[in-house]
Amino acid sequence: MVVELKRLNNPKNIASEFTNKIIKVCGITQDPKTKDYMLVILDDKCKKCDFVCHTRRFQQNFQNWTSGNYDIDSFIQNTQLSAHGDVKGALEWIPYNRLYDIKYIIENKFGKIYRANWIDGNINSYWSGSAWDHKNQNWLRFDTSNMFVNLKSLNTLNNLTLEFMNEINRACGITQDPETKNYLMVLSDGCKKCNKICNAIYFQQKFINWTSGNDDIDNFIRNTQLSAHNDTKKALEWIPYDRLYDIKYITENKFGKVYRANWIDGNINSYWDDDEGYWDYKNQNWKRLGTSNMFV
Ligand SMILES: [Zn+2]
Ligand SMILES: [Zn+2]
Repeated sequence: MVVELKRLNNPKNIASEFTNKIIKVCGITQDPKTKDYMLVILDDKCKKCDFVCHTRRFQQNFQNWTSGNYDIDSFIQNTQLSAHGDVKGALEWIPYNRLYDIKYIIENKFGKIYRANWIDGNINSYWSGSAWDHKNQNWLRFDTSNMFVNLKSLNTLNNLTLEFMNEINRACGITQDPETKNYLMVLSDGCKKCNKICNAIYFQQKFINWTSGNDDIDNFIRNTQLSAHNDTKKALEWIPYDRLYDIKYITENKFGKVYRANWIDGNINSYWDDDEGYWDYKNQNWKRLGTSNMFV
């Protein structure tokens, strides 16, 4: 056990040395040489942050929960251990009895989807620093009592990283149906980072509509889309070949063969940076710059 020793400046004022609740004082000792009295403090600081960061708070709670599965425990713990100043990427173990009104919705190629209410609600990750309630020594949560969540069955426990990669902006945690013993992802409706339905979520909703046929290319494109939060400029799309016409061979340079073509749809309009700029609410699709004749 690692402890820290802090000299008691004034033993008469010992009470004031205890006021900082973050510091866990285990006891008092005395240096036999200097005769100084010292507080023995549990070393709770994060080595990286040099204070009690979110990672340490998660860590202090590791003993209080388990999924019953070693791989899931370590997967969740790892997301929490990389939290430090930002809880957005951290997942939680969510006991099934914290969910109610669980309704089966649909089964798609990614698995079964359910809808439910989560009693506790998500940890408030909107302001990175303020996710911890010092008074109650607990997490501050967005919506305590009625947060809607989606539950999605975990197809395989072998590759949790891959399963969660496409849900990074929505994944709150993992739960287990006590009857079927199936593990389920708990997903928020909106984006955990933006606390609303942002561009990344719109892209995510369309993941089921396209594939390049190659997992690496799919994941590469998806990753650019998943970080598009309030700016679509760097987001790539899968463009089916039949959306291109008048394809002409131009030249071959050191980068390979170059063709010229018309793209029927045109690029997503990223000219206006504001939130409402890209998504066409009426048609539930992207607004595009040159619909019908963009040269590529
Ligand atoms: Zn830290
Ligand atoms: Zn977002």
